[in-house]
Parts: sequence; C-alpha cells; structure tokens
Amino acid sequence: MTQPQSLSAADNPLLATWAGPFGLPPLAAIKPEHFRAAFDRALAVHRAEIDAIAADPAAPTFANTIVALEKSGRDLERVCNVFFVLAGADTGDEIEAIEREVSPLLARHGNALYLNAKLYARIADLHARRATLGLDAEQARVLDRYNTRFVRAGAALDKPKQDRLAAINEKLASLGTQFGQNVLADEKAFALILEEGDLAGLPDFARAAAAAAAEERGAPGKYAITLARSSCEGFLQFSARRDLREKVFSAWIKRGENGGATDNCALIAEMVALRAERARLIGFPTYADYRLDDQMAKTPAAARKLLDEVWGRARAKAAAERDALQAMIASEGGNFALAPWDWRYYAEKLRKAKFDLDEAELKPYLQLDKMIEAAFETARRLFGLTFSAVDVPLYHPDARAFEVKDKSGAHVGLFIGDYFARPSKHSGAWMTSLRDQEKLISPVRPVILNVCNFTKPPAGEPALLSFDDARTLFHEFGHALHGLLSNVTYPLLAGTAVPSDFVELPSQLYEHWLEVPEILQKYARHARTGEAMPKALIDRVLATRTFNQGFATVEYTACALVDLDLHGLADPAGLDVGQFERDDLKRIAMPAEIVMRHRLPHFQHLFSGGGYAAGYYSYMWSEVLDADAFEAFSETGNAFDPATARRLRDYVYGAGNLRDPAEAYKAFRGRLPSVDALLKKRGLADAAV
Ligand SMILES: [Zn+2]
Repeated sequence: MTQPQSLSAADNPLLATWAGPFGLPPLAAIKPEHFRAAFDRALAVHRAEIDAIAADPAAPTFANTIVALEKSGRDLERVCNVFFVLAGADTGDEIEAIEREVSPLLARHGNALYLNAKLYARIADLHARRATLGLDAEQARVLDRYNTRFVRAGAALDKPKQDRLAAINEKLASLGTQFGQNVLADEKAFALILEEGDLAGLPDFARAAAAAAAEERGAPGKYAITLARSSCEGFLQFSARRDLREKVFSAWIKRGENGGATDNCALIAEMVALRAERARLIGFPTYADYRLDDQMAKTPAAARKLLDEVWGRARAKAAAERDALQAMIASEGGNFALAPWDWRYYAEKLRKAKFDLDEAELKPYLQLDKMIEAAFETARRLFGLTFSAVDVPLYHPDARAFEVKDKSGAHVGLFIGDYFARPSKHSGAWMTSLRDQEKLISPVRPVILNVCNFTKPPAGEPALLSFDDARTLFHEFGHALHGLLSNVTYPLLAGTAVPSDFVELPSQLYEHWLEVPEILQKYARHARTGEAMPKALIDRVLATRTFNQGFATVEYTACALVDLDLHGLADPAGLDVGQFERDDLKRIAMPAEIVMRHRLPHFQHLFSGGGYAAGYYSYMWSEVLDADAFEAFSETGNAFDPATARRLRDYVYGAGNLRDPAEAYKAFRGRLPSVDALLKKRGLADAAV
C-alpha cells in the first residue's frame, strides 16, 4: 500500500471551500488521489471535535453536547458524500482500492464515537433529565435519537464487550465492501456475445441496446447481453431462444456464487455470525430482534405477520399464473415443463395475447426525457416545485442537473439525475446526496442525486424505458423529494434519515402518480411521431397492473422471508449458506418455477453495506403504507388534492425523522394503515389461500 503524498488543503479540492455553483464540490477537479489525504484530515478533525465535547469540564447541556455533536464532522461528511457518490456511480480500480482501505477506517471512527464512554455519560445524563431541559419537540427528538443510537451501538457496555463490538463492526464493514465488489466483478466478467442470427424475438430497442453493449465491450458489429438487470431481464422477456435464455438466467442467478476469489458464500456466513454476535452483546436474542426494535415494525413477529398474510395469497395466484403459462406452452406444441428462464418470456406472450399489449409497442411512448418531465410535473402539482436544467460541472457527462424552486421562486435545492448504465456503475437504482438539508447554523439547501441503470441508446436516438423502468424513475424521484423537501433544523433528522420500513413510503407512494391517466396522457408520447399514447393503450396498460403479480409478489416475499429467517438465527455458527437457502425455500414451499429476486450470494441489500439486513420486509411494509396513503387521494376524487398533498408534505416528505413513523403516518392519514389496499393493488384480495 502506497501512502499518497500529503497534500495541503490548497492543493486538495476536497478540503478547499466549495465555491462552485450551488456550493457544489468541484467534481471535475477531484481525482482519486485526493481522497486518502482528505479522509485522513477530515477524520482527525472530527476526532478532535468529539474529544473536546467529551472532555468539556462544564456540566452537560443540550448546547454543549447535542448541538456541538450536530455541528461536528462537517468536513468528513462532505468528503464521504463525494466519495460514496463516485464509489456507486463512477467507480474504478483506484476508487475501489480506496474504498477497501477507507471503509474499515470509517467503521473504526464510528465505533470510537458511539463507544465513547465520557460522551455517552453526558448524553445519558441529558436523556435522564430530558423533561426538565425546556426542549422543543425537535430538540427532544434529536436527544432521544442520540441516546437510542448510543445504546444500540453498545455505549452502555463494559470495555471488553465494547472492544469486541468495535472489532465486529470493522470486520463487517470490510466484508460488506468486498461483497459488493465481488458481485460487480461477476457482472463485469459475463457478457453473452451473440450474432445477428441469435436474436430471434428481440424487438428493435433490445437489439440496439445489445449492439451498444457489444460495442462498449470491444465487439463492434455483434450483440452483447450483460448481467445489468435491464439487459438481462429484457432478453429473458423477449428471446425466443430457450437455450440462450437458460444461459443468461443461469449466469444471472449465480452472481456471487461462482467459486474462486469472487464467491460470496463464506463471506455471508461470516457476516451473519458476526451480526448475531453483535446482537447478543447488546442484549437481543437475534440480529432480527435487534434490528427491528428501532423500526416502525418493532418486532420480527410483526414483520412476519404481514409477510405471512401476503405469502399464501401470492403463492395461490402464482400457481394459477404458472398453469396459464404451461397451457400456453402446450398450445404451442411445447413438450417441457415451465422453467424459471421461461417465465418472463411466456408471461410477456400471455400479456400480449390477453391485453394485446407488448413492451415493444409501449416502449416508444416512454421516453426517458418525457418521464423525467412527468416526475417533475407531478411534484409541481403536488408541492408547487419547479425544475430547470442548469449547466454545472458534474462527475460524468451522462449526469445532468436541475435547479429546484418553490412556488415563490425561492431556491429549494439541486437535483442531479444520472440515468444510464455503464461498467463503472454498480447495478440497481438509488437516491443519494452530496449535501443534506438542515438549518442549524444557517439554512443549507440539499443536493440530491438519482442514479439508475437504464439502457443508453445509440447516439442520436431517444432513450426509451420499459414501464418498470419508468416506475423505477418515479420511485427514486420520490426518494429525491424526501431529501429535497426536508424541512428540519438538525442534520440528524434530515430527509431520508428515517427507519428503513418507513423510508420506502415516499418513493413507493410516488410510483402511483405515474399511473394517473392525466400524467400518462400528457407525457407518454411516441418518440418518432410525438403522438400521445392512445387512450385504449393506456387503458390496457392499467388493466395489466395486476397481471403476473403472483410471480412478482412471490419473487419478492421469498427474499423477505429468507432474510428474516437468516437473521433470526440465534446461533448461525458454521452456516452453509447454499444449504440454508435451499432448506428455507423448501420450508416456505417456494414454487419451483420462481427464483428469489435476489439470491443470497448477490443480495446486496443485505450484505453490501447491510442497510436492509433483516429489513428487506420493509419494502412490503412500506407498500402497505403507500397503497393506503394513495387511497387518501383517491377518496377525494383528485389525485392531486391540495389539502391531502399539504398534509403529505408536512408529515411525510418534509418531515424527515421529526416524529415516530407511526405518529407521522397517523398525523397524515388520521389513522394507522390496513393491509387491504395493498392486497387490492396487487390483485391478491380474492386469491384463495
Ligand atoms: Zn427505494
């Protein structure tokens, strides 16, 4: 490992004042070699700040402890934000190497903060006296969150236990980094290179995308299918070549499980054991108990109850769907049982037969640029926001920036959209930030990003989306609004800093507006003719909403159940990950024709970082909320009802973590949600159990 030369702040754009437009970091000037020095310096500054707070001879007060903590670590946060934006969206060997070096340093730093006994003593003292401190509601919430975080991190434990916790956290951080990099390596390593004659069934857009992917991989004139979800799922949906579908599908579900240096199985076993040990140290029987204690669900039993309510119905619906697909195979003279690599292909055919709707007919109407406008227009009608493109230096030419203003023309924040797949980008879609909203010292406006992996069109062609892509765009944009509309004083409570079973409410709820007919009518326009999507086509699109939902629900819910079971193990020592997955799927009676949406060896939600470990259920938990929340608009007869939108902004999109999620939801809706709207939305309400 070579130590970079020490750079002065003046030479290092990361440490200099960010004087760019909108206070953006000078992204074009930042080079990988700047990060290590910037991390070292920012970590040292934050350490000194924490030590000073902990050693303050004055008795603890809210100002000298909590406010001081909230004001500390500003450089570190800035450096981290820039670094992790790049590590996700535009990485490479140098950034990956720094990530491997820095992630244990950051974990160690976090440990030192949350296991600092003197600091915790001050917080615990304040927390015990909280009723007498004259705090307002937000201050009380911040104090309570700090106390909970310290206790959950192990601050109340003795020194030997704390040392062990610190070691566990560091190890988990580096294992998590390795996990994500292994998946990316397996994805990069695979490309199925095809000739013109292999493309039977593929519509023009899929051919064009495959040609572009081949070009990018140095095989001009040929066609490449990659393991990016859009490339791979598109191929599975359309390719008439059963042999090639099997090849692609097999590679896809084997990511992280190919033996050798990039195999994740041993790594998962180690992570699960370490998590269980951490939970026990802090006083919980399992990691799932520990994890859910600080969520809206509160207990694994509550999460499982919801999943169980859905699982039986989903399996029943999937069985009926399977029978219909098998009948289709038979009617075509096929003499084979439906396999997992057949499902998407025959489902697409059946969708076409049943609704006379095929993706290829739909796609020219779903132009990326128009769908971005549609997401913006929805935000204008709900929250009075406007978006205008601005030309500012970003980290990659494909990323674009928009200034966000409110009704009065005041600056709200900056939104950056980075939509196209490329080899330097991790798979999936996410929202992240370069700066979060707060107003503790002075008003700080957010800089929010959406990163997606849509297929880049050939030069000069418009980018076209599938309906799922368009939904993903709205989903991530909902997260972006959660960051942009945040209206809190304290950084700790800003934007998406809410429990993970609540954080998907703003995003999943936003997906509903894509399906509002007036949005589709206006923004779904044919790429060549400019014609609006015909009403009959829109009706057919909306009629297919519950089509194949048995499959989709099974594919997802199986992941959530396996996650809860894996992290619900009290003693996972010596775990054989492959065996566990097989046994657990057998236990829940997983249909043979469906594979988990994310198998454990590449389940990044659980192991790349770990934000969703024992928390994958939260997508469905949030879906209960979003289905119920959208009904609040439906009940008024206006999908943009101003009074409902106002409450939604006050208690959800703008409220960060100001309130307990159940309280926030009740304040918006007047009551807690029920599962009925979700079952109806997925077409499962009538499925026999
Ligand atoms: Zn999301």
